[in-house]
Amino acid sequence: MACDTGSSTSLEQHLKESSLKLTTEEFAAYLDSHDELSHLRKEFIVPKNKNRSDYGGDKPEGESTYLLGNSLGLQPVKTRATVNEQLDKWANIGIEGHFKDPYPWYPIGETAADRILHVVGAKSRREVAVMNSLTVNVHLMLVAFYQPTETRHKIVIESTAFPSDRYAVASQIKQRGFDPKTSLIELKPSQDGELVTRTEDIEDLLEREGDSIAVVMLGGIQFFTGQLFDMKRISELCHAHGCYAGFDLAHAAGNVPLYLHDWDVDFACWCSYKYLNSGPGGIAGAFMHDRHSENFDLNRFAGWWGNDPDKRFEMTHDFQPLPGVASFQLSNPPVLETASLLASLDVFSLTSMEALRKKSLLLTGYLESLLCELLGCERGPSVTQQTAQEPHAKRASCSVKILTPREPDHRGCQLSLKFSCHINAIEDALARQGVVVDGRKPDVIRVAPVPMYNTFSDVHRFVTTLISAMESTRAESSQ
Ligand SMILES: *Cc1c(COP(=O)(O)O)cnc(C)c1O
Repeated sequence: MACDTGSSTSLEQHLKESSLKLTTEEFAAYLDSHDELSHLRKEFIVPKNKNRSDYGGDKPEGESTYLLGNSLGLQPVKTRATVNEQLDKWANIGIEGHFKDPYPWYPIGETAADRILHVVGAKSRREVAVMNSLTVNVHLMLVAFYQPTETRHKIVIESTAFPSDRYAVASQIKQRGFDPKTSLIELKPSQDGELVTRTEDIEDLLEREGDSIAVVMLGGIQFFTGQLFDMKRISELCHAHGCYAGFDLAHAAGNVPLYLHDWDVDFACWCSYKYLNSGPGGIAGAFMHDRHSENFDLNRFAGWWGNDPDKRFEMTHDFQPLPGVASFQLSNPPVLETASLLASLDVFSLTSMEALRKKSLLLTGYLESLLCELLGCERGPSVTQQTAQEPHAKRASCSVKILTPREPDHRGCQLSLKFSCHINAIEDALARQGVVVDGRKPDVIRVAPVPMYNTFSDVHRFVTTLISAMESTRAESSQ
Protein backbone atom coordinates (compact mmCIF):
# COMPACT_ATOMS: atom_id res chain seq x y z
CA MET A 1 0.00 0.00 0.00
CA ALA A 2 1.31 3.42 -0.90
CA CYS A 3 0.52 4.89 2.48
CA ASP A 4 1.51 2.59 5.23
CA THR A 5 -0.42 3.49 8.34
CA GLY A 6 0.11 2.02 11.78
CA SER A 7 -3.46 0.79 12.02
CA SER A 8 -3.48 -0.94 8.66
CA THR A 9 -3.11 -4.53 9.85
CA SER A 10 -6.76 -5.38 10.15
CA LEU A 11 -7.62 -3.03 7.31
CA GLU A 12 -5.13 -5.03 5.25
CA GLN A 13 -6.85 -8.24 6.26
CA HIS A 14 -10.25 -6.92 5.23
CA LEU A 15 -8.80 -5.77 1.91
CA LYS A 16 -7.36 -9.19 1.26
CA GLU A 17 -10.49 -11.06 2.25
CA SER A 18 -12.83 -8.82 0.28
CA SER A 19 -10.58 -8.42 -2.80
CA LEU A 20 -11.93 -4.88 -2.98
CA LYS A 21 -10.00 -1.66 -3.43
CA LEU A 22 -9.50 0.54 -0.38
CA THR A 23 -10.99 3.65 -1.94
CA THR A 24 -14.22 2.15 -3.27
CA GLU A 25 -17.68 2.71 -1.86
CA GLU A 26 -18.09 -1.08 -2.00
CA PHE A 27 -15.25 -1.55 0.46
CA ALA A 28 -16.92 0.88 2.91
CA ALA A 29 -20.14 -1.14 2.60
CA TYR A 30 -18.15 -4.34 3.10
CA LEU A 31 -16.60 -2.97 6.31
CA ASP A 32 -20.06 -1.91 7.54
CA SER A 33 -21.43 -5.37 6.89
CA HIS A 34 -18.56 -6.86 8.94
CA ASP A 35 -18.97 -4.38 11.79
CA GLU A 36 -20.01 -6.22 14.94
CA LEU A 37 -21.24 -2.98 16.52
CA SER A 38 -23.33 -1.77 13.57
CA HIS A 39 -26.53 -2.51 15.51
CA LEU A 40 -25.74 0.35 17.92
CA ARG A 41 -26.44 3.04 15.34
CA LYS A 42 -30.16 2.39 15.55
CA GLU A 43 -30.02 3.36 19.23
CA PHE A 44 -29.40 6.97 18.09
CA ILE A 45 -31.29 9.66 16.23
CA VAL A 46 -29.18 10.93 13.35
CA PRO A 47 -30.31 14.41 12.25
CA LYS A 48 -32.02 14.46 8.85
CA ASN A 49 -30.62 16.80 6.25
CA LYS A 50 -34.04 18.33 5.63
CA ASN A 51 -34.19 19.55 9.24
CA ARG A 52 -30.89 21.31 9.18
CA SER A 53 -30.99 25.01 8.51
CA ASP A 54 -27.30 25.86 8.43
CA TYR A 55 -27.00 25.55 4.70
CA GLY A 56 -29.28 26.50 1.84
CA GLY A 57 -30.05 25.19 -1.62
CA ASP A 58 -31.14 21.69 -2.51
CA LYS A 59 -30.66 19.50 0.49
CA PRO A 60 -29.53 15.94 -0.02
CA GLU A 61 -31.96 13.24 1.06
CA GLY A 62 -31.66 11.28 4.23
CA GLU A 63 -29.50 11.39 7.30
CA SER A 64 -26.61 13.78 7.65
CA THR A 65 -23.06 12.50 7.81
CA TYR A 66 -22.55 13.46 11.43
CA LEU A 67 -18.88 13.41 12.42
CA LEU A 68 -19.17 15.84 15.30
CA GLY A 69 -19.64 13.58 18.31
CA ASN A 70 -16.54 15.24 19.79
CA SER A 71 -18.60 18.39 20.25
CA LEU A 72 -22.15 17.16 20.80
CA GLY A 73 -22.92 13.45 20.78
CA LEU A 74 -26.14 12.27 19.15
CA GLN A 75 -29.36 11.76 21.07
CA PRO A 76 -30.05 8.17 22.09
CA VAL A 77 -33.54 7.05 21.06
CA LYS A 78 -34.20 6.15 24.70
CA THR A 79 -33.46 9.58 26.11
CA ARG A 80 -36.84 11.14 25.50
CA ALA A 81 -38.76 8.33 27.25
CA THR A 82 -36.31 8.22 30.16
CA VAL A 83 -36.60 11.97 30.78
CA ASN A 84 -40.36 11.87 30.27
CA GLU A 85 -40.69 9.17 32.95
CA GLN A 86 -39.24 11.62 35.42
CA LEU A 87 -41.51 14.44 34.26
CA ASP A 88 -44.49 12.07 34.60
CA LYS A 89 -43.42 11.00 38.05
CA TRP A 90 -43.10 14.62 39.11
CA ALA A 91 -46.55 15.38 37.67
CA ASN A 92 -48.20 12.32 39.18
CA ILE A 93 -46.69 11.91 42.61
CA GLY A 94 -44.69 15.09 43.27
CA ILE A 95 -42.19 14.81 46.09
CA GLU A 96 -42.70 11.06 46.48
CA GLY A 97 -40.67 10.74 43.30
CA HIS A 98 -37.59 11.00 45.48
CA PHE A 99 -38.07 7.41 46.55
CA LYS A 100 -40.06 5.79 43.71
CA ASP A 101 -38.89 3.92 40.63
CA PRO A 102 -37.78 4.40 37.96
CA TYR A 103 -34.60 6.10 39.12
CA PRO A 104 -35.64 7.46 42.54
CA TRP A 105 -34.38 11.03 42.76
CA TYR A 106 -32.77 10.92 46.17
CA PRO A 107 -30.06 8.39 45.21
CA ILE A 108 -29.95 9.19 41.47
CA GLY A 109 -26.41 10.60 41.76
CA GLU A 110 -25.16 7.31 43.25
CA THR A 111 -27.08 5.35 40.62
CA ALA A 112 -25.33 7.30 37.88
CA ALA A 113 -21.93 6.95 39.59
CA ASP A 114 -22.36 3.16 39.74
CA ARG A 115 -23.26 3.06 36.08
CA ILE A 116 -20.34 5.17 34.84
CA LEU A 117 -17.60 3.39 36.83
CA HIS A 118 -16.61 1.06 34.03
CA VAL A 119 -16.52 3.82 31.41
CA VAL A 120 -13.70 5.62 33.25
CA GLY A 121 -12.07 2.63 34.93
CA ALA A 122 -12.83 3.52 38.52
CA LYS A 123 -12.60 0.80 41.16
CA SER A 124 -15.60 1.71 43.25
CA ARG A 125 -18.29 4.32 43.72
CA ARG A 126 -15.99 6.13 46.12
CA GLU A 127 -13.91 7.17 43.12
CA VAL A 128 -16.61 8.77 40.95
CA ALA A 129 -19.27 11.41 41.28
CA VAL A 130 -21.73 12.62 38.68
CA MET A 131 -22.18 16.31 39.34
CA ASN A 132 -22.07 19.89 38.04
CA SER A 133 -20.45 20.81 34.77
CA LEU A 134 -16.88 20.18 33.71
CA THR A 135 -15.27 23.53 34.51
CA VAL A 136 -16.96 23.60 37.92
CA ASN A 137 -15.48 20.19 38.68
CA VAL A 138 -12.03 21.32 37.52
CA HIS A 139 -12.28 24.13 40.08
CA LEU A 140 -13.46 21.81 42.86
CA MET A 141 -10.60 19.39 42.22
CA LEU A 142 -8.02 22.19 42.08
CA VAL A 143 -9.30 23.56 45.37
CA ALA A 144 -8.36 20.16 46.81
CA PHE A 145 -5.18 19.31 44.93
CA TYR A 146 -3.63 22.71 44.36
CA GLN A 147 -2.03 23.54 47.71
CA PRO A 148 0.73 25.89 46.63
CA THR A 149 3.72 26.66 48.81
CA GLU A 150 6.49 29.20 48.27
CA THR A 151 8.60 26.55 46.59
CA ARG A 152 5.97 24.36 44.92
CA HIS A 153 3.32 26.52 43.29
CA LYS A 154 3.16 25.72 39.58
CA ILE A 155 0.43 24.09 37.50
CA VAL A 156 1.24 22.59 34.09
CA ILE A 157 -1.27 22.66 31.21
CA GLU A 158 -0.82 22.09 27.46
CA SER A 159 0.16 25.14 25.43
CA THR A 160 -2.94 24.38 23.35
CA ALA A 161 -5.18 23.79 26.40
CA PHE A 162 -8.90 24.43 26.05
CA PRO A 163 -9.51 28.06 27.07
CA SER A 164 -11.82 27.15 29.94
CA ASP A 165 -9.10 25.01 31.54
CA ARG A 166 -6.59 27.80 31.16
CA TYR A 167 -8.96 30.35 32.74
CA ALA A 168 -9.79 27.97 35.59
CA VAL A 169 -6.13 27.23 36.32
CA ALA A 170 -5.04 30.87 36.06
CA SER A 171 -7.83 31.98 38.39
CA GLN A 172 -6.97 29.26 40.92
CA ILE A 173 -3.36 30.43 40.90
CA LYS A 174 -4.41 34.05 41.44
CA GLN A 175 -6.88 33.09 44.12
CA ARG A 176 -4.01 31.54 46.08
CA GLY A 177 -1.97 34.72 45.82
CA PHE A 178 0.39 33.57 43.06
CA ASP A 179 0.93 34.95 39.59
CA PRO A 180 -0.02 32.92 36.49
CA LYS A 181 2.96 34.54 34.72
CA THR A 182 5.31 32.52 36.90
CA SER A 183 3.08 29.73 38.20
CA LEU A 184 1.24 28.62 35.05
CA ILE A 185 3.53 26.47 32.93
CA GLU A 186 2.74 25.47 29.38
CA LEU A 187 3.78 22.09 28.08
CA LYS A 188 5.15 22.92 24.66
CA PRO A 189 6.06 20.54 21.84
CA SER A 190 9.79 20.06 21.41
CA GLN A 191 9.57 19.75 17.63
CA ASP A 192 9.17 22.95 15.64
CA GLY A 193 5.96 23.33 13.69
CA GLU A 194 4.14 20.61 15.62
CA LEU A 195 1.46 20.70 18.23
CA VAL A 196 1.82 17.22 19.67
CA THR A 197 4.10 16.47 22.59
CA ARG A 198 6.17 13.42 23.38
CA THR A 199 6.23 11.78 26.78
CA GLU A 200 9.90 12.80 26.88
CA ASP A 201 8.82 16.45 26.66
CA ILE A 202 6.89 15.92 29.90
CA GLU A 203 9.80 13.99 31.38
CA ASP A 204 12.17 16.86 30.55
CA LEU A 205 9.83 19.46 31.97
CA LEU A 206 9.46 17.53 35.24
CA GLU A 207 13.20 16.96 35.36
CA ARG A 208 13.78 20.71 35.02
CA GLU A 209 10.97 22.13 37.12
CA GLY A 210 9.38 19.19 38.96
CA ASP A 211 10.36 20.49 42.38
CA SER A 212 8.30 23.62 41.87
CA ILE A 213 5.28 21.95 40.21
CA ALA A 214 2.24 21.22 42.36
CA VAL A 215 -0.17 19.84 39.74
CA VAL A 216 0.06 18.65 36.15
CA MET A 217 -3.36 18.92 34.50
CA LEU A 218 -3.53 17.83 30.89
CA GLY A 219 -6.35 16.86 28.57
CA GLY A 220 -6.53 13.04 28.48
CA ILE A 221 -7.08 13.57 24.79
CA GLN A 222 -6.01 17.00 23.58
CA PHE A 223 -9.15 18.65 22.19
CA PHE A 224 -7.38 20.37 19.29
CA THR A 225 -4.85 17.80 18.08
CA GLY A 226 -6.68 14.66 19.18
CA GLN A 227 -3.49 13.39 20.87
CA LEU A 228 -4.11 10.74 23.53
CA PHE A 229 -1.66 11.16 26.40
CA ASP A 230 -0.05 8.24 28.20
CA MET A 231 -1.90 8.92 31.44
CA LYS A 232 -0.34 6.00 33.27
CA ARG A 233 3.21 7.08 32.49
CA ILE A 234 2.47 10.75 33.18
CA SER A 235 0.94 9.91 36.58
CA GLU A 236 4.00 7.82 37.42
CA LEU A 237 6.35 10.65 36.40
CA CYS A 238 4.34 13.20 38.36
CA HIS A 239 4.40 11.10 41.51
CA ALA A 240 8.14 10.53 41.18
CA HIS A 241 8.53 14.32 41.29
CA GLY A 242 6.06 14.87 44.12
CA CYS A 243 3.32 16.40 41.93
CA TYR A 244 -0.34 15.49 41.53
CA ALA A 245 -1.59 14.25 38.15
CA GLY A 246 -5.00 15.42 36.97
CA PHE A 247 -6.72 15.05 33.61
CA ASP A 248 -9.50 16.80 31.78
CA LEU A 249 -11.24 13.92 30.03
CA ALA A 250 -13.73 15.95 27.98
CA HIS A 251 -12.47 14.26 24.81
CA ALA A 252 -11.51 10.94 26.33
CA ALA A 253 -14.54 9.79 28.36
CA GLY A 254 -16.62 7.51 26.16
CA ASN A 255 -14.02 7.74 23.38
CA VAL A 256 -11.24 5.44 24.59
CA PRO A 257 -11.04 2.87 27.41
CA LEU A 258 -9.81 4.51 30.60
CA TYR A 259 -8.30 2.79 33.63
CA LEU A 260 -8.03 5.76 35.96
CA HIS A 261 -7.67 3.69 39.12
CA ASP A 262 -4.98 1.40 37.74
CA TRP A 263 -3.17 4.30 36.12
CA ASP A 264 -2.96 5.89 39.55
CA VAL A 265 -4.39 9.21 38.36
CA ASP A 266 -5.06 11.57 41.29
CA PHE A 267 -8.11 13.30 39.86
CA ALA A 268 -9.99 13.71 36.60
CA CYS A 269 -13.05 15.55 35.32
CA TRP A 270 -15.18 15.15 32.22
CA CYS A 271 -18.27 16.48 30.53
CA SER A 272 -20.89 14.10 29.20
CA TYR A 273 -22.34 15.88 26.16
CA LYS A 274 -19.48 14.90 23.84
CA TYR A 275 -18.77 11.16 23.56
CA LEU A 276 -21.13 10.33 26.41
CA ASN A 277 -24.21 11.57 24.53
CA SER A 278 -26.09 13.01 27.50
CA GLY A 279 -27.32 16.09 25.65
CA PRO A 280 -26.33 19.76 25.52
CA GLY A 281 -24.95 21.01 28.83
CA GLY A 282 -25.33 17.52 30.30
CA ILE A 283 -24.19 16.65 33.80
CA ALA A 284 -20.44 16.18 34.22
CA GLY A 285 -18.35 13.85 36.35
CA ALA A 286 -15.27 13.69 38.52
CA PHE A 287 -12.85 10.99 39.62
CA MET A 288 -10.62 11.03 42.67
CA HIS A 289 -8.32 8.10 43.37
CA ASP A 290 -9.34 5.96 46.32
CA ARG A 291 -5.94 6.71 47.85
CA HIS A 292 -7.37 10.13 48.73
CA SER A 293 -10.84 8.90 49.77
CA GLU A 294 -10.30 9.26 53.46
CA ASN A 295 -8.03 12.22 53.39
CA PHE A 296 -10.43 14.67 55.00
CA ASP A 297 -7.65 17.23 55.24
CA LEU A 298 -7.96 17.91 51.54
CA ASN A 299 -9.27 21.39 51.11
CA ARG A 300 -12.81 21.50 49.78
CA PHE A 301 -15.72 23.78 49.08
CA ALA A 302 -18.49 22.07 50.96
CA GLY A 303 -22.22 21.68 50.38
CA TRP A 304 -24.89 19.54 52.04
CA TRP A 305 -24.79 16.84 49.34
CA GLY A 306 -21.22 16.04 50.29
CA ASN A 307 -22.50 15.03 53.72
CA ASP A 308 -23.18 11.48 54.69
CA PRO A 309 -26.67 10.76 53.15
CA ASP A 310 -27.89 9.36 56.46
CA LYS A 311 -27.00 12.61 58.19
CA ARG A 312 -28.08 15.11 55.52
CA PHE A 313 -31.54 15.66 56.88
CA GLU A 314 -30.40 15.99 60.43
CA MET A 315 -29.51 19.50 59.31
CA THR A 316 -26.75 19.86 61.87
CA HIS A 317 -24.03 22.48 61.73
CA ASP A 318 -21.35 19.82 61.30
CA PHE A 319 -20.17 18.93 57.84
CA GLN A 320 -19.35 15.24 57.86
CA PRO A 321 -17.94 14.48 54.44
CA LEU A 322 -18.51 11.12 52.86
CA PRO A 323 -15.35 9.19 52.05
CA GLY A 324 -14.43 9.62 48.40
CA VAL A 325 -15.15 12.14 45.68
CA ALA A 326 -18.87 12.19 46.54
CA SER A 327 -17.88 14.50 49.39
CA PHE A 328 -17.33 17.18 46.73
CA GLN A 329 -21.00 17.14 45.75
CA LEU A 330 -22.54 20.48 46.61
CA SER A 331 -26.20 20.29 45.75
CA ASN A 332 -28.92 17.77 45.15
CA PRO A 333 -28.48 16.56 41.57
CA PRO A 334 -30.40 17.84 38.54
CA VAL A 335 -32.66 14.85 37.94
CA LEU A 336 -33.59 15.51 34.31
CA GLU A 337 -29.92 15.85 33.30
CA THR A 338 -28.99 12.76 35.25
CA ALA A 339 -31.84 10.75 33.73
CA SER A 340 -30.64 11.80 30.30
CA LEU A 341 -27.13 10.56 31.12
CA LEU A 342 -28.55 7.28 32.43
CA ALA A 343 -30.37 6.72 29.14
CA SER A 344 -27.08 7.09 27.32
CA LEU A 345 -25.25 4.82 29.76
CA ASP A 346 -27.85 2.16 28.91
CA VAL A 347 -26.47 2.20 25.38
CA PHE A 348 -22.90 1.93 26.69
CA SER A 349 -23.95 -1.13 28.69
CA LEU A 350 -24.87 -2.89 25.41
CA THR A 351 -21.17 -3.05 24.61
CA SER A 352 -17.79 -2.39 26.25
CA MET A 353 -15.23 0.37 25.90
CA GLU A 354 -12.79 -2.28 24.63
CA ALA A 355 -15.16 -3.36 21.84
CA LEU A 356 -15.78 0.28 20.92
CA ARG A 357 -12.03 0.89 20.83
CA LYS A 358 -11.47 -2.07 18.55
CA LYS A 359 -13.93 -0.67 16.03
CA SER A 360 -12.59 2.84 16.55
CA LEU A 361 -9.04 1.84 15.63
CA LEU A 362 -10.30 0.38 12.37
CA LEU A 363 -12.67 3.27 11.64
CA THR A 364 -10.13 6.04 12.25
CA GLY A 365 -7.38 4.01 10.57
CA TYR A 366 -9.67 3.74 7.56
CA LEU A 367 -10.24 7.51 7.59
CA GLU A 368 -6.50 8.11 7.73
CA SER A 369 -5.83 5.66 4.88
CA LEU A 370 -8.52 7.18 2.67
CA LEU A 371 -7.24 10.71 3.26
CA CYS A 372 -3.77 9.52 2.51
CA GLU A 373 -4.67 7.59 -0.66
CA LEU A 374 -7.21 9.95 -2.15
CA LEU A 375 -5.88 13.33 -1.02
CA GLY A 376 -2.18 12.67 -0.81
CA CYS A 377 -2.61 13.98 2.68
CA GLU A 378 0.46 14.25 4.87
CA ARG A 379 0.32 11.80 7.76
CA GLY A 380 0.33 12.99 11.31
CA PRO A 381 3.52 13.49 13.31
CA SER A 382 5.05 10.54 15.09
CA VAL A 383 5.24 10.78 18.85
CA THR A 384 7.65 7.88 19.18
CA GLN A 385 10.16 8.75 16.46
CA GLN A 386 11.63 11.89 15.01
CA THR A 387 9.36 12.78 12.11
CA ALA A 388 10.99 13.43 8.79
CA GLN A 389 9.10 15.77 6.53
CA GLU A 390 7.36 13.59 3.99
CA PRO A 391 6.81 14.80 0.48
CA HIS A 392 3.12 14.90 -0.24
CA ALA A 393 1.08 15.51 -3.32
CA LYS A 394 -0.95 18.66 -3.37
CA ARG A 395 -4.59 18.41 -4.23
CA ALA A 396 -5.85 21.46 -6.02
CA SER A 397 -4.39 24.67 -4.62
CA CYS A 398 -4.76 23.49 -1.07
CA SER A 399 -2.98 20.71 0.77
CA VAL A 400 -3.95 18.86 3.90
CA LYS A 401 -1.85 17.67 6.76
CA ILE A 402 -2.95 15.57 9.73
CA LEU A 403 -2.10 17.14 13.10
CA THR A 404 -3.04 14.05 15.10
CA PRO A 405 -0.29 11.54 15.91
CA ARG A 406 0.10 8.76 13.38
CA GLU A 407 0.40 6.08 16.07
CA PRO A 408 -3.08 4.69 16.84
CA ASP A 409 -2.10 4.24 20.50
CA HIS A 410 -1.62 7.98 20.75
CA ARG A 411 -5.01 9.12 19.53
CA GLY A 412 -8.72 8.51 20.03
CA CYS A 413 -11.26 8.55 17.23
CA GLN A 414 -10.65 12.14 16.11
CA LEU A 415 -8.31 13.32 13.38
CA SER A 416 -7.54 17.03 13.11
CA LEU A 417 -6.80 18.20 9.58
CA LYS A 418 -4.84 21.32 8.85
CA PHE A 419 -5.42 22.95 5.46
CA SER A 420 -3.00 25.20 3.63
CA CYS A 421 -5.99 27.36 2.63
CA HIS A 422 -8.83 29.03 4.55
CA ILE A 423 -11.53 26.49 5.38
CA ASN A 424 -14.60 28.73 5.06
CA ALA A 425 -15.64 27.67 1.58
CA ILE A 426 -14.73 24.03 2.22
CA GLU A 427 -16.88 23.92 5.35
CA ASP A 428 -19.81 25.45 3.48
CA ALA A 429 -19.47 22.98 0.65
CA LEU A 430 -19.36 20.07 3.11
CA ALA A 431 -22.42 21.37 4.94
CA ARG A 432 -24.36 21.67 1.67
CA GLN A 433 -23.73 17.97 1.15
CA GLY A 434 -24.92 17.12 4.66
CA VAL A 435 -21.48 16.50 6.14
CA VAL A 436 -21.24 17.87 9.69
CA VAL A 437 -17.73 18.42 11.03
CA ASP A 438 -16.06 20.95 13.28
CA GLY A 439 -14.19 23.81 11.67
CA ARG A 440 -11.69 25.77 13.75
CA LYS A 441 -10.99 28.93 11.83
CA PRO A 442 -8.90 29.68 9.94
CA ASP A 443 -7.49 26.35 8.81
CA VAL A 444 -8.35 23.29 10.92
CA ILE A 445 -11.19 20.79 10.56
CA ARG A 446 -11.68 18.19 13.26
CA VAL A 447 -13.36 14.96 12.21
CA ALA A 448 -14.62 12.45 14.76
CA PRO A 449 -15.89 9.10 13.47
CA VAL A 450 -17.55 7.83 16.65
CA PRO A 451 -17.49 4.03 16.86
CA MET A 452 -20.82 3.95 18.68
CA TYR A 453 -22.84 5.28 15.73
CA ASN A 454 -20.70 6.25 12.76
CA THR A 455 -20.28 3.93 9.81
CA PHE A 456 -17.45 3.26 7.39
CA SER A 457 -19.75 4.66 4.70
CA ASP A 458 -19.96 7.93 6.70
CA VAL A 459 -16.17 8.13 6.56
CA HIS A 460 -16.08 7.35 2.85
CA ARG A 461 -18.74 9.99 2.16
CA PHE A 462 -16.78 12.53 4.19
CA VAL A 463 -13.55 12.00 2.26
CA THR A 464 -15.13 11.99 -1.20
CA THR A 465 -17.22 15.06 -0.32
CA LEU A 466 -14.12 16.81 1.01
CA ILE A 467 -12.32 16.18 -2.26
CA SER A 468 -15.14 17.61 -4.33
CA ALA A 469 -15.44 20.53 -1.89
CA MET A 470 -11.74 21.30 -2.31
CA GLU A 471 -11.99 21.02 -6.07
CA SER A 472 -15.06 23.23 -6.31
CA THR A 473 -13.56 25.91 -4.08
CA ARG A 474 -10.46 25.91 -6.24
CA ALA A 475 -12.62 26.27 -9.34
CA GLU A 476 -14.45 29.19 -7.70
CA SER A 477 -11.28 30.94 -6.58
CA SER A 478 -9.65 30.62 -10.00
CA GLN A 479 -12.60 32.17 -11.80
C1 LIG B 1 -15.60 20.76 25.92
C2 LIG B 1 -14.51 21.12 26.84
C3 LIG B 1 -14.74 21.94 27.95
C4 LIG B 1 -16.09 22.58 28.19
O1 LIG B 1 -16.27 22.93 29.52
P1 LIG B 1 -17.74 23.07 30.15
O2 LIG B 1 -17.47 23.40 31.54
O3 LIG B 1 -18.44 21.76 29.93
O4 LIG B 1 -18.45 24.16 29.40
C5 LIG B 1 -13.67 22.17 28.81
N1 LIG B 1 -12.46 21.64 28.59
C6 LIG B 1 -12.22 20.85 27.51
C7 LIG B 1 -10.86 20.27 27.31
C8 LIG B 1 -13.23 20.58 26.60
O5 LIG B 1 -12.98 19.83 25.53
